[in-house]
Amino acid sequence: MPPKRDGEVLVLGIESTAHTFGVGIVSARPPIVRADVRRRWTPREGGILPREVAEFFSLHAGEAVAEALGEAGVSIADVDAVAVALGPGMGPALRVGATVARALSAKYGKPLVPVNHAVAHVEAARFTTGLRDPVALYVAGGNTTVVSFVAGRYRTFGETLDIALGNLLDTFAREAGIAPPYVAGGLHAVDRCAEGGGFIEGIPYVVKGQDVSFSGILTAALRLLKRGARLRDVCYTLREVAFSSVVEVTERCLAHTGKMQATLTGGVAANRVLNEKMSLMAGLHGAVYRPVDVRLSGDNGVMIALTGLAAYLHGVTIDPGEAYIRQRWRIDEVDIPWYPWLPGDPPPG
Ligand code: AMP
Ligand code: MG
Repeated sequence: MPPKRDGEVLVLGIESTAHTFGVGIVSARPPIVRADVRRRWTPREGGILPREVAEFFSLHAGEAVAEALGEAGVSIADVDAVAVALGPGMGPALRVGATVARALSAKYGKPLVPVNHAVAHVEAARFTTGLRDPVALYVAGGNTTVVSFVAGRYRTFGETLDIALGNLLDTFAREAGIAPPYVAGGLHAVDRCAEGGGFIEGIPYVVKGQDVSFSGILTAALRLLKRGARLRDVCYTLREVAFSSVVEVTERCLAHTGKMQATLTGGVAANRVLNEKMSLMAGLHGAVYRPVDVRLSGDNGVMIALTGLAAYLHGVTIDPGEAYIRQRWRIDEVDIPWYPWLPGDPPPG
């Protein structure tokens, strides 16, 4: 990486809302991503254990920051602002990232920029696709939401009433004994098992108003397996039903807002089948469809740094003494004064 150039603004971003401690360093001009360091906690079995995650993050935070600075070819003195995901997420995990960010900000006199993790997923999509004003389907391990920008904020146009889409796929895969590994070569374990499968009756398709629901799908799919249904048929049907419901809600949001761009973000955005469905749906409306750069689909520090860069350039900072974590910080509580700014645009005047 080249050394920091005259007038270049560098932001270091820290992600620690769930399973990944991420440190990203970005610039407003190319090369935009200077460093992307991740330390991922993986369970021996079962789901996420917040305390173990926090301990793992504390152990690796220092080396991750040092490695990111090395990768970026800069020193902490070159960094103009520190951004941190203050929520939503798990308290013990969030506290580690917030503590590291507050310490860097206070010790080195760097402005601190608060970032909402969900906003960062959507901005990662906007920034890597160049779509200025899209409808976004955000699907991950802990989130399933359709959002679009209206009147100063990302507004929620639909969401899951219970578990998230990634959680549905992961839990089913675990209970059915086809994972880990959950994901390999861009395919989820459910996709691998769905090959050669066909549609069967018995899995409910649930869209209520603008919202979706997956817990009934999970229960029904596991019951079908117990009763001797073929695994590949259950996997195929579960996937088709679940994906179709989120695409339907996204389609209605496109129709209601009249927007002509659609994007897909979050961990499940890496899925080929979901991308095909989104692309087909957008095409029917004459809308442009592009998913987030797959390297930024899962949790990472770069998306926090990118969103932090946009926020910082538009005057959004927070006193380190007030940088509390917010476990249930909703996307529609966040003002987005930089919208529809994209990196590469002239700096705000
Ligand atoms: P995140 O919570 O954003 O880190 O995303 C993690 C979620 O994305 C997990 O539920 C993964 O199973 C899911 N995921 C990752 N890659 C894929 C893929 N190719 N297809 C479906 N789900 C995926
Ligand atoms: Mg996430």
